[in-house]
Amino acid sequence: MRVSKLFTKTLKEAPADEVAKNAQLLIRAGYVHKEMAGVYAYLPLGLRVIEKIKQIVREEMDGIDSNELIMTTLQRKEIWDKTTRWDDDIVDVWFKTKLKDDTELGLGWSHEEPIVEMMKQYVRVSLYQFQTKMRNELRAKSGIMRGREFIMKDMYSFHASKEDLEAYYNQAIDAYMRVYDRLGIGDETYVTFASGGAFTKFSHEFQTICDAGEDVIYLHRAKNIAINEEVLDDAVKELGVEKDELEAVKTAETGNIFNFGTQKTDEMDLYYVGEDGKDHSLFIGSYGIGITRAMGVIAEKLSDDKGLVWPDNIAPYTVYLVSIGDKGAAEADRLYEELREKGVEVLYDDRDERPGAKFADSELLGIPHRITVSDRLLEKEQYEYTNRMSGETVLLTPEEMLAKLV
Ligand code: ATP
Ligand code: MG
Repeated sequence: MRVSKLFTKTLKEAPADEVAKNAQLLIRAGYVHKEMAGVYAYLPLGLRVIEKIKQIVREEMDGIDSNELIMTTLQRKEIWDKTTRWDDDIVDVWFKTKLKDDTELGLGWSHEEPIVEMMKQYVRVSLYQFQTKMRNELRAKSGIMRGREFIMKDMYSFHASKEDLEAYYNQAIDAYMRVYDRLGIGDETYVTFASGGAFTKFSHEFQTICDAGEDVIYLHRAKNIAINEEVLDDAVKELGVEKDELEAVKTAETGNIFNFGTQKTDEMDLYYVGEDGKDHSLFIGSYGIGITRAMGVIAEKLSDDKGLVWPDNIAPYTVYLVSIGDKGAAEADRLYEELREKGVEVLYDDRDERPGAKFADSELLGIPHRITVSDRLLEKEQYEYTNRMSGETVLLTPEEMLAKLV
């Protein structure tokens, strides 16, 4: 993509009403557009990041034999009545609406009940989707980390036995950790004991250390034990650790997994017929990852005073190509085509701008590798290479540069 063809421009300032660092940077760099508090549009660069995060999650969920589908945003009241969760006193984040004939509908804040209903017609396995969830959240001051609409990957698994669910649940924990590793936040993401869980005492959250997060967990780094503050007393007893061995850290919940046991299937009358010819309850697991929250957490954690910093595998483009001078521009045109032919994703700053402005934009955008082609360097048959994360700048021959990027 040529920067001259990109419809977004970088901004010096974020909107005054935007207090979250992740959204300030993402707005200034042209990744997102703020429609209103907690509601963001994802612009071309932001969309590319989301698609890359989704692809990593997709590969890992496919890896544990889950099937991708996409469910509906409009949902029926009757389905949620079965579990009492249509009631605003029980679920306080519903956006509700009506058909012209006054039939009440909800905008999906979750898809747990609809998927159980749907499974009455199908073979039960593991299913997942990427869906925009709508939630009337009370507070929306964390930028894209807490949206009133946001993209979630939700997955549901259905099992004939508790043992089968447990085995799958453990596979899902491993798949989740592979996702966080590939997103570049695995080292700072902890499988955390949290409240809930039908026949286990705890559910599990995936908490990523982040100053802008809304949660606090208690961490035993040596034993790799993490506990959400809401279940601290309970969990400390259960796990046999001392409170004063634990360190409190601020975190953001980037994912969670939960087992419902047979509660939801019983409430909603979903059974399977066993070999004995009788109806049996089904066990359900529910597994979420906040796609846009994860993007916000990465923006918060990896950024610096110059702007965003993306890891290679989720950056919207791998290379930011800067041309300086007339000869530099001709060579940059050629190099742009060559890199693209070799499959490298290049954002080419072909604008007639000061070098300093191009460098500043490449830093704000957080593209991992920058290549500068200038009249002066061409005389020596060299390119300048700068690594966004380490800040390292070196002069490279064309061969060395290709070896680094391809
Ligand atoms: P939280 O405690 O942060 O409100 P939750 O317990 O409501 O989260 P779930 O309903 O289980 O979360 O959703 C699954 C995942 O979706 C969460 O782990 C989180 O990463 C993400 N998520 C939840 N609410 C939001 C939101 N308002 N904006 C962005 N991501 C969210
Ligand atoms: Mg919530």
